[in-house]
Amino acid sequence: MRVRFWGTRGSIATPGPGTTHFGGNTSCVAVTTDSGELLVLDCGTGAFPLAADLMAHAVQPIHANILLGHTHWDHIQGFPFFSPAFVKGNTLAIHGPEGSHASLHEVLAGQMEFTYFPVELNQLPAAISYHELTEGIHTIGSVRVAAQFLNHPARTLGYRIEADGAVVVYLVDHEPFSGELWRAGDEPGRIESILHDGDRRHAAFMADADLVIHDAQYTPEEYELKKTWGHGTYDYAVRLAGTAGVRRLALTHHDPSHDDRFVAQIEARARTLALSLAQGLDVFCAFEGCEIAIEPRAGPEAPVPLAAAQPAVTHGRSSVLVVDDDPDVLALIVRALQPHYTVVRATSGEQALRLVAESIPDLMVVDFKMAGMDGMALVRTLRARPETARLPMLMLTAMDDEASTRAGFDAGVTDYVTKPFSIPQLTARVHACLARTPAR
Ligand SMILES: [Zn+2]
Ligand SMILES: [Zn+2]
Repeated sequence: MRVRFWGTRGSIATPGPGTTHFGGNTSCVAVTTDSGELLVLDCGTGAFPLAADLMAHAVQPIHANILLGHTHWDHIQGFPFFSPAFVKGNTLAIHGPEGSHASLHEVLAGQMEFTYFPVELNQLPAAISYHELTEGIHTIGSVRVAAQFLNHPARTLGYRIEADGAVVVYLVDHEPFSGELWRAGDEPGRIESILHDGDRRHAAFMADADLVIHDAQYTPEEYELKKTWGHGTYDYAVRLAGTAGVRRLALTHHDPSHDDRFVAQIEARARTLALSLAQGLDVFCAFEGCEIAIEPRAGPEAPVPLAAAQPAVTHGRSSVLVVDDDPDVLALIVRALQPHYTVVRATSGEQALRLVAESIPDLMVVDFKMAGMDGMALVRTLRARPETARLPMLMLTAMDDEASTRAGFDAGVTDYVTKPFSIPQLTARVHACLARTPAR
């Protein structure tokens, strides 16, 4: 497998004298297998130079599998300039998470409407197909790709690509699920010691990878002011990748306000941290033009652990019960979820129990602090009953300390979302919880 970085910038393209080394184009990575299968990870402005290279050097006609992590601008803006789409005989298979408000085709067509672009999506001569993905295992071309939801204020998938006896994992636009990484009293540096289920699942998803490409937009100092924006730090990526036994870690989605000197400092700090952890992790900041050949592992091929090992399941319209004694927060959440789900509301734990006795929802969103029966007591009560023992329950809380997070998971919450959260972030987490629930 060969991996080449064509765009390493996050948020907005940043050309200029300050970014000549790490590059100013937004997210785009090309993965080519030994048999010539092409996977394009994201279509930020880096897709433009990639397209020129393909037109000049690739075997024609071109067949490209495009995998979009999500459809924020910095991941799709290069698509209208992806020249293979303008050539009859080429084929493009575009994959991405099922849209929250519109289909993948509609979202991509939206940025090519006449107001914004002279050629409409449906006028492109190449044969283009659209494939909406959810969490689970997929076959893309001849390649096995596992997809898992990331923590971002949009439905966003990370991809684990297994080909040629090697593994490359792409985890871009993701922020830590929890401010605390480790369970107090447990030995740091082990996957089982990770406090939040989401971070543990994230580490397991990259287990044993030859290369992980990970969001590291902020320094830890900057992140304190940018929580809920959906991006992470180098230290989170280094600690998780080291713990997961990853060989090489490429930090990417560089902040547009960081020039080459600043990114080089992040790289130096990341290397110092990786060395101090002594887990054998090689870390660097991705730069435009960086190309890596990944050799197959020596010896018998190790069985690759897969976090998202279940086949992808698509659900019909799900029902969600929202329990919160604050009428304003309740109204806000109900309004956000209503377009996608059948939403039922309760203003107390006691009322929620009565509603669940009448009809079990597909998922519950529960506030931690409520007058009377609080969220924790409600979760414990429902977990003890066989009919709701596996019901996905997402807890909302202002308590982000280690002891409270741990108590939440011990009580049986499926996901633990700390305030302040944004509504897009919450709806993405609800969607992820439902996507990994077996159909009833
Ligand atoms: Zn982005
Ligand atoms: Zn994004």
